[in-house]
Amino acid sequence: MTTAGPAPVTPVTTRPVVCCGCTQQCGLRVDVADGRILDIRGDRAHPVSAGYVCPKGKDAAELVYHPDRVLTPRRRIGPRGSGQWADVSWDEALDDIAARIARLTAADGARSLAYSYGTFRGGDWGIGERFLNRHGSPNSCGQDKICYGPLTLAEALTYGSGPTVFTAPVAGITRCVVVWGMRPAASAPLLWRAIGAAQKAGAQLIVIDPERTREARHADLWLQVQPGRDAELALALLHLLIKDDLIDHAFVREHTTGFEDLRAHVTGLEPVALAKACGVPLSRLQEAAALIGRSRPTVFNAGNGLCQTGAPVIQIGRAIACLIAVTGNLGVAGGHALLGPPRDMLANGDMLDAAALPEAERARRVGAGRYPFLGHGYRGLDDAVAAAWYGRQHSLNWIATAHEPSLWQAIADGTPYPVKALIVQHHNPLGANPNAPAVARALQSPNLELCVVHDLFMSPTAALADYVLPAAHWLEKPYFSFGIAFVGAFGDYVGANHAATAPPPGVRSDYELWRDLAQRLGDGAAWPARAEDFYARSLAPAGLDFDTVAAANGPLFGAAARHPDHATELPPRYGTPSGKVELSSSLLAAWGLPAVPTAAVPALGRDAADFPLTLTTGGRTIEGFHENAQHLRRYRRTHAHPAATLHPDTAARHGIRDGDWFTLETPLGRVRQQARLSAALAAHVVCADRWWYPEGTGDAQDPYGLWATNINVCTSDAADDSDPVMGAWLLRGLPCRVSKED
Ligand code: SF4
Repeated sequence: MTTAGPAPVTPVTTRPVVCCGCTQQCGLRVDVADGRILDIRGDRAHPVSAGYVCPKGKDAAELVYHPDRVLTPRRRIGPRGSGQWADVSWDEALDDIAARIARLTAADGARSLAYSYGTFRGGDWGIGERFLNRHGSPNSCGQDKICYGPLTLAEALTYGSGPTVFTAPVAGITRCVVVWGMRPAASAPLLWRAIGAAQKAGAQLIVIDPERTREARHADLWLQVQPGRDAELALALLHLLIKDDLIDHAFVREHTTGFEDLRAHVTGLEPVALAKACGVPLSRLQEAAALIGRSRPTVFNAGNGLCQTGAPVIQIGRAIACLIAVTGNLGVAGGHALLGPPRDMLANGDMLDAAALPEAERARRVGAGRYPFLGHGYRGLDDAVAAAWYGRQHSLNWIATAHEPSLWQAIADGTPYPVKALIVQHHNPLGANPNAPAVARALQSPNLELCVVHDLFMSPTAALADYVLPAAHWLEKPYFSFGIAFVGAFGDYVGANHAATAPPPGVRSDYELWRDLAQRLGDGAAWPARAEDFYARSLAPAGLDFDTVAAANGPLFGAAARHPDHATELPPRYGTPSGKVELSSSLLAAWGLPAVPTAAVPALGRDAADFPLTLTTGGRTIEGFHENAQHLRRYRRTHAHPAATLHPDTAARHGIRDGDWFTLETPLGRVRQQARLSAALAAHVVCADRWWYPEGTGDAQDPYGLWATNINVCTSDAADDSDPVMGAWLLRGLPCRVSKED
């Protein structure tokens, strides 16, 4: 006879993982019992984040166990957007998808298949580009055009490496920090912590932002720039620094070329006119220039507020890169670290098999005909960067993806050639992309013969798909990253971990989806069964393996590590055609574009007298990261409805009260928003939140109510509003007007 004892206690395992709730990649500790996540907290032992965790990281398991999560593959059985679905097995779905891709490839060529992926949701972010490269299609579209791509390209054109504008200040060494178009308290809390420490040690803080943000309230000097006019502000700073002789002559003499062209150009500009255009009094610009010029080292932390300004974006980035260079803040401790790609390990282009894509196909990717860097221009920069950094080609491959607005045109109109199949991964183009009507036209077009969405939740885009496939959450898959997934622009370090918990049976990771499609299309040998074994290929040349890196709990540095803390070296050759820091860009000149930084204004803003206000969109909060967190209860408590911020005086003039619904309109479209009143903005500026509204249905005519409230009905992807180098589109600085709702 046995007597009943105490119930057995389920052992709790604690696993260290890197958080992929945003791009900060804090170290977390996850308690798991019986395969279920019990608790998530910051990892005090993590060498970078040292215990920090934000609400998104803390609540991440809520997404894993969310009742609305898609857990079984679905195939459309009614008309597109009818909401009629049948559950199918993965094998049924993938067999059919692979057969359709094979048929379209035979009839219309490999380039008839496109891939569109969203922002960072795990270590296998963007892995589908590898499949497309090997398949022969150049049409992988990332969000690089509006997410650090322009700043990276501008820096690379200037000194052949980037982005350096993430570089954290070093407390006690950095003497001035410029936060420009960025809200690090919300978007980069580890950077914000470093800025706070630098301030405590005596560094001055300059914030450049249209809104009096939390960062601006902590600043010694806040420059309230007019949205989208940052190029004029940067040119004014260059003018003043050169005129007042606050530049580093030794650096300019030894490391740069084109200084005389730059000097002649900016000293010929009228500072009063520049001050008027950017909306900042000249006296404050003079104060900022003096602070930057007299406080070395200075570090410039620039963000996506700049990357989303359309036409001027490369000019803004180039002007900032020139500011960094002429003030001698490149390659100095406490200034900007030039890290380059990894030397020993394989990163971006290598891991994504960029070389497998025929050169002629790269030049034919959608958008390459109009935007030189996406096509013929890429090779010149890539060769120059490779000549400076270990002969490694395609390290900037991640910013040379196809142009998404051009993709919608190719699908809907068949120009420049038909694209008939689209796989969308962790992305909702109908919500996130500018000119939402153009996206809808493509997704609803009969020309689109196959549309597959792989994601955690339904979305307006998923509602129009032929297949919706359930995706693994980042806690359910291994993590591997050079900075951000395969990007590898931050020197020789790498991080990895195993999955915190197993995914539900019906769910596959990004890597597994592409592996399983490749197997069906005859390329299975190139895709190891486990993602960890694929990642290990990157590590092998450095004598590392996945388990060793995963066991390190924190980034591991390769033999040639150049980390910000010891980034005082400058390369013997810069990754530009001249091998120097090019203040006048030889590549931009070769592409028929201004070689020295200039100002540019989107066409939409030039003649819009009926739209007297200025619209800016997006802007991060600590509770959200694009669509990653928007099913979280905490996010919805603070963002219950699509909202826009108005100055109280502007609202009063239109009879709008706090919490009222009102009409917001640009020359391109109109939507409803809920009013949030704040004097932190100038009276003529309106700031609309990034859209996402999970309530509602996938109704074909108005999926999830997007035509009523999606701010991207009002934003522009027009070529004359976009930057002419890589086609970055216009989300900030649009003319607009508001009215009280009837
Ligand atoms: S800031 Fe938050 S979401 Fe981002 S990595 Fe850190 S804990 Fe995760």
